Amino acid sequence: MKFLKQPLCLLIAISMLCMNCNGGVKAVHKKLKHPLNIILLIGDGMGLAQISAASHYAAGGLCLDLFTIIGLIKTSSGDDYITDSAAGATAYSSGVHTYNGAIGVGMDSLPVRTILEMAKAQELSTGLIATCSITHATPASFFAHQKSRSLDADIANDIYNQNIDVVIGGGKPYFNLEKLKQLGYHVATGNDIDWNAVYPQYFYFYNDSIHLPKWKDGRADFLVKATQTAIRTLNKNKKGFFLMVEGSQIDWGGHNNDFEYTVQETLDFDKAVRVAYEFAKKDGNTLVLVTADHETGGLALNEGSLKTHTIKPAYTTGHHTGVMVPIYAYGPGAENFGGTMENIKVFEHMAGLLNLKSIQH
Ligand code: MG
Ligand code: ZN
Repeated sequence: MKFLKQPLCLLIAISMLCMNCNGGVKAVHKKLKHPLNIILLIGDGMGLAQISAASHYAAGGLCLDLFTIIGLIKTSSGDDYITDSAAGATAYSSGVHTYNGAIGVGMDSLPVRTILEMAKAQELSTGLIATCSITHATPASFFAHQKSRSLDADIANDIYNQNIDVVIGGGKPYFNLEKLKQLGYHVATGNDIDWNAVYPQYFYFYNDSIHLPKWKDGRADFLVKATQTAIRTLNKNKKGFFLMVEGSQIDWGGHNNDFEYTVQETLDFDKAVRVAYEFAKKDGNTLVLVTADHETGGLALNEGSLKTHTIKPAYTTGHHTGVMVPIYAYGPGAENFGGTMENIKVFEHMAGLLNLKSIQH
């Protein structure tokens, strides 16, 4: 017994030493390796039913099917069990639960700093892509601070001092193009966009309208090209980048209870996910997160055929629902996104993983 005692003590001593090692590190995040870059892709209104339906129709499967770390997000806002896209996006951009309609402001209507601003303050590059107006609730909540989502002109006005490197989407009528050019941006619209050109900072508008057309009405691979081009530009910054890409119109398919619209927009969004995923796979320093702000339409998949590849869907509402939405994570730090979490946790993890310091507004 006596000679057993010594090695046992040694074993205990060693394990205690190890515990001290781990305990001494302020380990907020589970993964030791931090990403340099984060690409956050938001499918507006994209719940599990939308993804399931798109997966059924996707030839060769969805890129989302390749992700192995998946969590669930509780989507409620600060004042309503059912969130809108403004409060939903502000939860992701700023980590606060705010009232529905709030753009980058808290419950008191005062500005809250966004992850884009925090990233820029630490010299990371930043980018925003949407398939609707850049002034619309989701992208707006990453750069603007307005008490209401309906204030498009004021929201647009908030972009000029943000120094965002890449902005691609709609909303051209709201922006002062001369002012953008004076700030050093290359500005191009529609066929004038040269996707292979290398500009350090640019605004690309789909056309002269506020919103982009539906995918089926000729948007083609705009979202894919936008995502490719933005990543190529932003990746030139060795300090890293933060890019938000929105599949804006999945939500509109839900509001319209238009199943074909919903599925086509989700499939198009998944192609942008694939661009990010493939880049991250090669890069090794990029965290890709794919989620939604909420589900739209209360979509149910009640019947379907494997033979004819069809689904008989049903919608329960023309509005958003309170069902949890999935979050898919790939890359360094992905482990933090497994499990069930509040929407504001996503911001906390992203900011922590990029080592962003909180800044005063
Ligand atoms: Mg949106
Ligand atoms: Zn909506």
